[in-house]
Amino acid sequence: MHLALGKQSWNPAAVRLLVVEDERKTAEYLRKGLSESGFVVDVAGRGDEGLRLAMTGEYDLVVLDVMLPERDGWSILAAMRRTENSTPVLLLTARDAVEDRVRGLDLGADDYMVKPFAFSELLARVRSLLRRGPGRQPETLRIADLEIDLIRNRATRAGRRLDLTPKEFALLSLLMRRQGEVLSRTIIAEQVWDMNFDSETNVVDVAVRRLRRKMDDPFPVKLIQTVRGMGYVLEEQ
Ligand code: CA
Repeated sequence: MHLALGKQSWNPAAVRLLVVEDERKTAEYLRKGLSESGFVVDVAGRGDEGLRLAMTGEYDLVVLDVMLPERDGWSILAAMRRTENSTPVLLLTARDAVEDRVRGLDLGADDYMVKPFAFSELLARVRSLLRRGPGRQPETLRIADLEIDLIRNRATRAGRRLDLTPKEFALLSLLMRRQGEVLSRTIIAEQVWDMNFDSETNVVDVAVRRLRRKMDDPFPVKLIQTVRGMGYVLEEQ
C-alpha cells in the first residue's frame, strides 16, 4: 500500500498507532488487523497507561475506547487537547448515542465508530485520518495556481473563480486531496457518486472532461493527467 499526499508520501511501516482498549478480544483483533495492514501498533488496556502513551506524542493516530478502567476515554481526549496534542483520535463508543458522538466531537475527537464495527470500515477511517495529516483538515488546498477552499466550496485558478457544479467540485477536491496519486475510475465513482462502478457507464470520463474544460483548458499548465489504463492524477508536469 502506498498513499501519497502532495509531494509527501508515507510508508505505513513508519506509521505508529496507539490502541487504548480494555476488552482483550477487541484489543487483540485491532492489534492483529492493523499490524497486518502494515502499521506499528501499541496497545494500552488501562486509562492511565493510555494517557501516558498518548501524551508521548510518538503516535500518528490514537484509537480510543470510551469505557476504560482507571480513566475513561473522555478524560484522555480532554487531557490531550488541553495540552494542544493534536494527534488524530478515532473514538470507539459502545452505543450509538447522539450525545456520546456530540461530546466526543466537542472534546476534539476526529472521528468515531460505534461498536460493533467491521474492521474494514475502521481501517478505511484510520487511513482517511492519516491522509489528512496532523490535526484538522486544512481549509484550503493548493497546487500550482489552483486553490480550493473546502469550507466555502470555492475554487480559483490564477485568482479567477471557477464556476463548478457540486459534483465537479467534489471531483476536484478528491483529486486535490490525493494529488500525485493515480485514482482509478472505480475509486472516483465510489467517492464522488457514492456508487459502484458500472463498466457500461462513462460518467467519470464525462465529468473529468467537463472539469478540464473549466479548470485546465483555459490555462497553459494542465493539472489533470490521464494515466492510460489506470485513471487520473492531479499533478503539475
Ligand atoms: Ca471498554
